Amino acid sequence: MEISPGIHRIKCTFGDNRMVYIHLLIGDQSCLLVDTGCGHNPDQEILPYMTEAGLNPADLTYILISHSDLDHQGGDAPMKQIAPQALLMCHDLDRPWVEDTEALIAGRYSQFEKDHGIGYGQEGKEGIRQMCQSHLLDMTLSGGEKIRLGTDWTVEVVHTPGHTWGHLALYDPRSKTMISGEAAMWTSILDDDWRPALPPTYCYVDTYLSTQERLLAMDIETLSPSHWPVQRGPAVAEFVAESKNYCLLVEAKLLDLARSDGPFTLRQAIDTLGPQLGSWPAETNQDFSYGMLGNLDSLTKRGLLNISQDAGPNITWSLP
Ligand SMILES: [Zn+2]
Repeated sequence: MEISPGIHRIKCTFGDNRMVYIHLLIGDQSCLLVDTGCGHNPDQEILPYMTEAGLNPADLTYILISHSDLDHQGGDAPMKQIAPQALLMCHDLDRPWVEDTEALIAGRYSQFEKDHGIGYGQEGKEGIRQMCQSHLLDMTLSGGEKIRLGTDWTVEVVHTPGHTWGHLALYDPRSKTMISGEAAMWTSILDDDWRPALPPTYCYVDTYLSTQERLLAMDIETLSPSHWPVQRGPAVAEFVAESKNYCLLVEAKLLDLARSDGPFTLRQAIDTLGPQLGSWPAETNQDFSYGMLGNLDSLTKRGLLNISQDAGPNITWSLP
């Protein structure tokens, strides 16, 4: 559907009742696709939408990947097959994981295995491998770039780190629309029925909170995020403020846990606090590792928690 003049929001489905909204901007000079979904989504949803909209894939100029994650970059290789001339781009900081699925699996999806004993197992990784068909990039960005799509239409790339180091959003000053990806992650990631599917997977808390401040300071009339409904008018600031406040709530809960229970591991924190902080299915609670480790790193850096020096999966945090 067209959410603002020239900006189309396309639902791409994957897995068990999950979806990611990708965006297609159609200008009279050039066209830009934001994200490619998972491996099957270009054929299943993106190409049919383009055909319906009367857009020849040969007229696609740019493909901008918001960040390194299987449901945003997984369709890169099939999309490049459909539109080989389109320039594939992402932020330079996300380049290593966007270009290489194995690097993404090792760096992002296996990051809690050694120190915290939390991971997806071989079967989970095989599933990721099949869904994520990465491709080499044509160029990388750093935020601030302006891309002309029409005579009177230029959109702006905005660096919005937190969920990843190089997360990018795209702002259209003409309609005051922000295609926000996962720059703000609300209080949970939602499924196709708008029910919580998993905890918000912000990772780098200090930059994530700065990103919320930046979004709150911008003139945004319409916010179109990847896994949440479109927000308009006053709902935009509410959505962003709730994203920020939730991250701070998790921080407060972690400090409470250290006070009441003494030293705890990452596994104990997600098992104890996860069910108190949301109503996603129990099996996705382990994805709180991303957010909680982000909070724990931030609390440790600021001297509010101490981290034990033990090696291996029994690293603990406690009050100083
Ligand atoms: Zn996503």
